[in-house]
Amino acid sequence: MAIVEALEPGADGRRRLGLRSPLGETPIGEITVATPEDVADAIRRARIAQKAWGARTVEERAAIVNRAIDSFLAHQEDIIATLRAETGKTRPECVFMEILPSCDFVNYWSHRAPKDLAEHKRKMHGYLRPLKRLQIAYRPLGVVGVITPWNGPLSLATNPTAQALLAGNAVLLKPSEVTPESSAWAVRCFHEAGVPADVVQVLYGDGETGAALVRGGVDKISFTGSVRTGTKIGVACAEQLIPCTLELGGKDAMIVCADANVERAARGAVFNSMLNTGQVCMGVERVYVVEEIADEFERMVREQVAALRYGAEGEVDVGAVFWDKQLDIIRHHVEDARKRGARIDVGGEVDRLQGLFFKPTLITNVTHEMDIMREETFGPVVAIMRVGSEAEAIRLANDSEYGLSASVWTRDVEKGIRIAKQIEAGSVCINDATLAYGVPEAPFGGLKKSGLGSVNGLGALRAYSHELPIVIDRWGLDKEDHWYPFTEKTQRNLEYTLKYVFGTKLRRFFS
Ligand code: NAD
Repeated sequence: MAIVEALEPGADGRRRLGLRSPLGETPIGEITVATPEDVADAIRRARIAQKAWGARTVEERAAIVNRAIDSFLAHQEDIIATLRAETGKTRPECVFMEILPSCDFVNYWSHRAPKDLAEHKRKMHGYLRPLKRLQIAYRPLGVVGVITPWNGPLSLATNPTAQALLAGNAVLLKPSEVTPESSAWAVRCFHEAGVPADVVQVLYGDGETGAALVRGGVDKISFTGSVRTGTKIGVACAEQLIPCTLELGGKDAMIVCADANVERAARGAVFNSMLNTGQVCMGVERVYVVEEIADEFERMVREQVAALRYGAEGEVDVGAVFWDKQLDIIRHHVEDARKRGARIDVGGEVDRLQGLFFKPTLITNVTHEMDIMREETFGPVVAIMRVGSEAEAIRLANDSEYGLSASVWTRDVEKGIRIAKQIEAGSVCINDATLAYGVPEAPFGGLKKSGLGSVNGLGALRAYSHELPIVIDRWGLDKEDHWYPFTEKTQRNLEYTLKYVFGTKLRRFFS
């Protein structure tokens, strides 16, 4: 909704929140905040429904979940309308940041699931191999709470929800109060596909509802959002000894080397800073360009930022800021930079004529003390700092409490890979950016304050399962050699094993 305001409580005493669109700031609806009792009731129903869902084969679940793609496509126009009303993002962004990745995630995971979650035998190592067999099975965890932010309300809800469902769990989705209906489309499409109503449910509400879900007795929390909230959730999960993944904020650095394709780097800096109105966790937040090419790079970026079209309607490049509070943060960071001596080359102002807009902005001459280089700005701003060398760029990129992702721009890919390995970030792109989360086979997770654990990657579905090792005796003898009673022979045999398995060159055959 963008602008969230408390309304008078409903007749049943439940809190209500009114929503106004960032486009025109006009009312677009309201939500009733789910109480801790509502949450407890939803968890109870989910736990019952999960039994049958978890008992289906992975293939059956995958076939059902995959059908959600048909619903995403069938409701495309309505989904875009909801996304536009709640976020003010451009139509192309509604498609390629939301609907397209949602379809892609569902398609990828539903094809992966039968492979990744197949019960299988695993060859045992060493001296145990002739004696025992090992089988691995995957059991659902039970009920998973998925708590999501407002910046990618559909795709960031669809991805963890699809993974958790495929692994046989029930899911309670608590979307951001800023974009509740955009996220609810994910649940609607899974229902249409055939996932039973209580197996995937949406819980509208704000932090209070989220906190009740975290403390409500679920078996895992998948959280995407701010460091502040993520830290509270991490503590709550630790206290209950339940697993959680925390996908948190970032301050992604872009390093432009002297041998970069300057045109691609300049276009990449602008696109990946402005995309989604700059509100992408892994969007470019700060640019370090080496002095040798800085004049040319800055000139190209300046021309492009100045040419960007923003607005509510028509063919525009940059949409609205999704949330009024975010607009304040962006303004504050730009003002802080201005006061401390940065140059605002383009933009730098709020424009509320058509809604919540911030003019596409270029800031140069920045220093590392400025908020714009240290805190998550999450706005349509390119901030450029010149550096003397690539080594200095790497040092500055690492001088951050965040470590979500980063990018390196160079014609020498081998050098790019060497630099990537020196950056303290969860993922790194070369000659591109804002990409890693959209690659489901790539593990995605932040270092430092950017998070804990990882989503996506080959282990993702298994992280929504209990990986159950079943160790089976091969021979069914009356007794094992080392069982009671302990005798001299027991001791002798154990010492022989030690000596001949590990004390000779034979040990490599037993590894
Ligand atoms: P937020 O932390 O304010 O809210 C996220 C969700 O948590 C919302 O649903 C909110 O209602 C809920 N919540 C708030 N307080 C809670 C509590 N005490 N207990 C449980 N739930 C609570 O974050 P936001 O402002 O909605 O999202 C923006 C942030 O998300 C940015 O920092 C962005 O970088 C980050 N983000 C990270 C990723 C990633 O993959 N790493 C992706 C997108 C966004």
